[in-house]
This record gives sequence, structure tokens and C-alpha cells, in this order.
Amino acid sequence: RHKGMVAFGYGLFAGFWGMHYALERMGCTVLPAGGLDSKAFVGLLVEHQVEVVGLTPSYAMRLIETAGEMGVDLARDANVHIILAGAEPRSDFTTRTIESAFGARVFNAAGTTECGSVFMFECPARRGACHINEPLVIQEVLHPETAEPVGYGEEGVRVTTGLYREGVQLFRHWTEDIVVKRHHTECGCGRTWDFLDGGILRRVDDMRKVRGVSVTPVMIEDVLRGFPEVAEFRSSLRTDRGLDTIHVQAEAGDLTGPAAEALRARIAEEFKREIGIRPTVELAPAGSLPRTKWKAARLHDERHLTHA
Ligand SMILES: [Zn+2]
Repeated sequence: RHKGMVAFGYGLFAGFWGMHYALERMGCTVLPAGGLDSKAFVGLLVEHQVEVVGLTPSYAMRLIETAGEMGVDLARDANVHIILAGAEPRSDFTTRTIESAFGARVFNAAGTTECGSVFMFECPARRGACHINEPLVIQEVLHPETAEPVGYGEEGVRVTTGLYREGVQLFRHWTEDIVVKRHHTECGCGRTWDFLDGGILRRVDDMRKVRGVSVTPVMIEDVLRGFPEVAEFRSSLRTDRGLDTIHVQAEAGDLTGPAAEALRARIAEEFKREIGIRPTVELAPAGSLPRTKWKAARLHDERHLTHA
């Protein structure tokens, strides 16, 4: 029997319940790993040679960090082939980092409580092609301002109507997710369900303007994940003497002195090059920034607050 594990609290939130039941239906053994700390989770992955794992990208990054501290090489010592990483938009860099650390393929999937189901899943035949679960949900893509339908291949807001849910029915729920829909024939798998290219690209309300430059959490993540020394980060938008700035806190082990200064300078330089804004960078002590299993919030707009 194949073995699966889901990093999920097994509570009232719908979350990964669908994956748990799907694995059972396929005849897999599902290890009930909810509530374990990350060290115990890594231990179970290795001990039981678990092949399928469901988690958030944030938690996958945390497991990679923990495995490193334990001296575990996940690609060599564990046996994970498939990672279903849902619930958060993620950068391509994060996906590649997770794939190489685990030696596994990362697939995207997402559900909404409003529909009571998983509405999309990534196809093995084409990277990023997230087929819409069309028997269960109608996914419209509408222009963010005019609310008129946009064509295939154009960005718009995902508007969703569940087709089977009992008790609560939402019609045309405006999700604030920005997506691009493509015709099913553009994927080579033969499924007749259209797909969202790249899944959820970002949230309408994620986009922030900093001195006229558009900044999203995924853009910041992309820059910081390019630094292998950075284990975790948090960023905020602040007003410093009337000027909007990005403030970055990055954990980079116990770096001090010239090495720490050099890293701060390299991070600031890379932001300037990639995003167009030079941030203030602060190195935080190892383990001091919050880790999360669920819905990471790493960009905080604090411009309404006062900073000395
Ligand atoms: Zn496909």
C-alpha cells in the first residue's frame, strides 16, 4: 500500500480533509500527522518512507529547514514522490526549492470553503495547468473593474458558483483571486476541463503601491528565496520620514560582523534590481520570526502606524 501524510490540524476548517479521504479511497495508508511538530513530521516521513505529502508551501520550507538541523537529507533519506502544496500562492523559486530539497514533484491544488470543495488541481501533463473541477463548480473570470467576462488567456478575478453544496449556496462569489483561464485543449492530457494557468496568481488586495511601484508578497518572496542563507523572513511597508519604504527582517542563522553586513547589502541590492526599491534590511536572530503551517502572511502594511 502507498503511504500518504497530511500536515493539517484535522479541525473544523475544511482544508485538507478532501485529500485525506481521497488517499483513503485510493487505498493508501494515511498517517494521521496532525498536531505533530516539524521534527516529528520529518522523522515519520523518513521512518515510514511516505510517498505522498499534503502541506502548504510555507510548511514545506519549514520542514526543509528542520531536516537540515536534524542532519536529514530529504531527497536521499525520505521517499516522497508527490507533494500537494495548497492554500497559498507561491513563487516559482519556492516551488523549485521544495522540489529539489525533497526530490519530489510539487503539485498545486486549492479549495474554497464557499464551495465546500477542491475547485482546481494541477495536471501532471503540463506544469502549472490547474484544471477546474467543472462538475462541481462554475469558474467565471471577470474584469476586476468592469466585472465583464474576459477572454481565455486574459487576467481577471475568479468568480465562483458551487454546484452541489447543500445547506449553503453561494452564487457568483467574488473571490479577489487573480487568475488566467485557458482552453482545455492547451493541455495535452485529454481532459475536457479548462484550466487556470499557474493557479491563483495573486490576490487583488495583495498588490501594494510603494512609491509608485507595484509590490506583491510573491515578488518579495521570490527575491528572498534566492538567498539560501535566509531561513525565514517577514516584510512590512513603512513610512519613514514621509517616505514609503519596504522593511525586511530576515533570519540568516547566527551571522554577525562583516558577513552579516555583506548579506544585508546583497539583499538590498537584489531588491533594487528585481523590484526597483531599495529596502531597509534587518537580520533577525535565528528562530525569532513566526513560522506557520497555514496561510502565511509575510507582508504587512504598517504605513498607517507610526515608526520612530
Ligand atoms: Zn491536463
